[in-house]
Amino acid sequence: MSKTLFEKIIDKEIPAEIIFEDEIAIVIKDINPQAPTHLLIIPKKVIPKLSDATDNDKDVLGHLMLIAKDISNQLGLDETFRLVVNNGAKAGQSVFHLHIHLLSGRPLNWPPG
Ligand code: 5GP
Repeated sequence: MSKTLFEKIIDKEIPAEIIFEDEIAIVIKDINPQAPTHLLIIPKKVIPKLSDATDNDKDVLGHLMLIAKDISNQLGLDETFRLVVNNGAKAGQSVFHLHIHLLSGRPLNWPPG
């Protein structure tokens, strides 16, 4: 299997602005930001999309959410941000390696498009 784009970033084969990294996940700046703060929280384990996650992924998925909380605090986002997971091409997913978008720094309207 060829590597996903995000695996190549995790393996440092493609450059990215890395905000945080541990043994489970990496956080990078989105290359095409949709808000003043637009980060991607990416598990190192390749789960193509959330629909493919299993009970074995509970710890990884929980870890991603707690990273979102910690990063938002560190960046001083005033507890104001939105997390987005696009699941499947029809929902806007373009990279099939699960990731959480963290958006902040502008009004976030509801419902999203
Ligand atoms: P999706 O559409 O799958 O939910 O989100 C994929 C995201 O990856 C998009 O917001 C897109 O801008 C971002 N992206 C695509 N290619 C790259 C890249 O090479 N580097 C970084 N940092 N982000 C990328």
